[in-house]
Amino acid sequence: MSGYSVKRGRSLLNTPGPTNVPERVQRAMVRNPMDLGDPIALSMIESCFEDLKKIFKTEHELFMYAANGHGAWEAALVNTLSPGDLLLVPELGNFSTGWGEMAEALQMRTETIKGDWRQAIDPAKIRDRLAADKNHEIKGILVIQTDTATSVTCDVAAIRKAMDDAGHPALLFVDTIPTLAVTDFRMDEWGVDVAVSASQKGLMMPPGLGFVAASPKALEAHKKATSQRRYWDWSLRLAAESYRTFCGTSPQIQLYGLRASLDMLLEEGLENVFARHKRLARATRIAVEHWGQAGAMELNAINPDQYADGVTTILLKEGYDGTKIRDVCRDELQCALGGGLRNLSGKAFRIGHMGDMNEPMLYGALASVEATFAYLDVPYTPGGVTKAIEYLVECRKRGGKA
Ligand SMILES: *Cc1c(COP(=O)(O)O)cnc(C)c1O
Repeated sequence: MSGYSVKRGRSLLNTPGPTNVPERVQRAMVRNPMDLGDPIALSMIESCFEDLKKIFKTEHELFMYAANGHGAWEAALVNTLSPGDLLLVPELGNFSTGWGEMAEALQMRTETIKGDWRQAIDPAKIRDRLAADKNHEIKGILVIQTDTATSVTCDVAAIRKAMDDAGHPALLFVDTIPTLAVTDFRMDEWGVDVAVSASQKGLMMPPGLGFVAASPKALEAHKKATSQRRYWDWSLRLAAESYRTFCGTSPQIQLYGLRASLDMLLEEGLENVFARHKRLARATRIAVEHWGQAGAMELNAINPDQYADGVTTILLKEGYDGTKIRDVCRDELQCALGGGLRNLSGKAFRIGHMGDMNEPMLYGALASVEATFAYLDVPYTPGGVTKAIEYLVECRKRGGKA
């Protein structure tokens, strides 16, 4: 047995979900469950709904589920659509495809606008497709704000405008699972009908809570939607009693964690949260571009306007194995990264920098990645970490602007 098989010190979690759970949130969850009628617990839960709406930037309805993001995806679809309904899916990466596959499994139909996994679909293409849909057969558009597989972000407001320009009544569905409390999202201002999220990314929580916010138009569509549903059903959940709001016992302990996380986010201020993510993301890209001068890798996203704030996908040249990089970085160096998904399986790896993340944590991850390249003889230009440091120090000198 080599001395390396015993792990000491902290491990780094740089996956794009789940993300690090701050100690304050962890401590908030060390407690005994309470009586379901306890007024203190009930008012705490009530305040979570109010404050989470501030993060979605909505005054509309919000539903919470004891579920992961996939549960929230399903809740969004079955509450507003019927079997046979057609959905438009602008392809952005693994998650746009996955949400579309879920709709198909629920007996809906999908039509994909093909993408290349390196940039977002031009909103003009969405506008043209909708304008051609004279009979309004398309009932909704499934948009992923940032596809975590490709690290490409799309412009939700521009998609809304494309829909309005086409004069089309389809519902706008947006997945904000890896972007809520990472990248600006404005449900009401952008005219989003159904916004979906989950606890384990920007919200700095363990996995297990799913969220769906619904506009009045979505609630109207709900009345006519005939998809089978029970646990997810908004009609049942639009009730005053907490037991019905959660379709049974509420995930109390998780909600205490959420309360702490919302406190932390609101204390920091959403604008500061977004700016912090922008800085860490840019520092990561600076490191990647520096390493990439040796010819083995590049940023997967090719359009700077579409870079992601919470994750960076690094595309490898033929002959280099992203799975091996991820495995060695985790197993040898105790730094967890994301792997390549679906079309990018083995061809990419991902550095997550979302949630409870600061500069030294990012330096640790970037240095671990450099060490992994050295260990695996992947060509890289040394000094990516130094470049990241130089950039982040510059940001500090100018008061935090990315
Ligand atoms: C993480 C993620 C999901 C899936 O969330 P789960 O909680 O794993 O079900 C969906 N969409 C995007 C864009 C994600 O990043």
